[in-house]
Amino acid sequence: MLGARSRKKSPGDPIGIDPSRSAVRLTRVTKEYGRGPSAVVALDDVSVGVAAGSFTAVMGPSGSGKSTFLHCAAGLDRPSSGTVRLGGQDLGELNETQLTRFRRTRVGFVFQAFNLLPALTVEQNITLPLRLAAAETDHDSVRSVTAAVGLAGLLGRRPAELSGGQQQRVAIARALITRPEVIFADEPTGALDPDTADDILALLRQAVTDLHQTVVMVTHDPAAARHTDRVVFLAAGRVARRVDAPSAPHIKDVMTELRRIR
Ligand code: ADP
Repeated sequence: MLGARSRKKSPGDPIGIDPSRSAVRLTRVTKEYGRGPSAVVALDDVSVGVAAGSFTAVMGPSGSGKSTFLHCAAGLDRPSSGTVRLGGQDLGELNETQLTRFRRTRVGFVFQAFNLLPALTVEQNITLPLRLAAAETDHDSVRSVTAAVGLAGLLGRRPAELSGGQQQRVAIARALITRPEVIFADEPTGALDPDTADDILALLRQAVTDLHQTVVMVTHDPAAARHTDRVVFLAAGRVARRVDAPSAPHIKDVMTELRRIR
């Protein structure tokens, strides 16, 4: 079991998140790159709600808009039109400084390339978001997160002294430490061998099941889907399909079908 949440509790809500609400909701989001005849519509009128405490995969052919979706949903980029609400906050109402602060405190990120700071120890990497947000380091919380991701005993090492799978565990612990509204993972297993990839996906699943975190993951791997609650398929910038309780064979079939949409 992972440790208790540090977020404020409300009556009838022992974990601090109301499961009935969306952790992130995109409403009629369109994103265009460039202008005029060379403009590319990367997202075309996309509406998606992600339930709090769920694990969602975003899949689709190359160029279908997955990265753009993730960037808009996480407040790393702004839509051309439409709204993004994350944890009840309309991101369009925030200026750049507010948005940066919001991301630091309310959003977690896990990337394919781990993105750890090589000069810092495992512990320093994990607690970095707390220091950036000028929040107190709660040592119980650091201990419970590092134990949960299987890093106890490695806290003094530097990233170069860890395997790829261990480095991704550090990145997941770093994403968990602030108990964010949503963790966005961009191809988190893309640099890992299949067995290690499966361990990392199981860990993300555990963060959802035990810690009631919300995870949104871009992936191209049908095997990853079986760990998730739902797959949202994009094709040509639109939501093409939603699959609940996905299995790898079903996902493979849908992917084959969607490759025909351009
Ligand atoms: P995916 O992640 O599914 O491969 P992307 O979101 O990266 O898709 O891209 C969707 C579409 O938007 C593609 O046609 C891509 O070429 C285009 N695109 C993405 N980023 C930019 C950009 N910064 N400038 C121009 N076009 C872009």
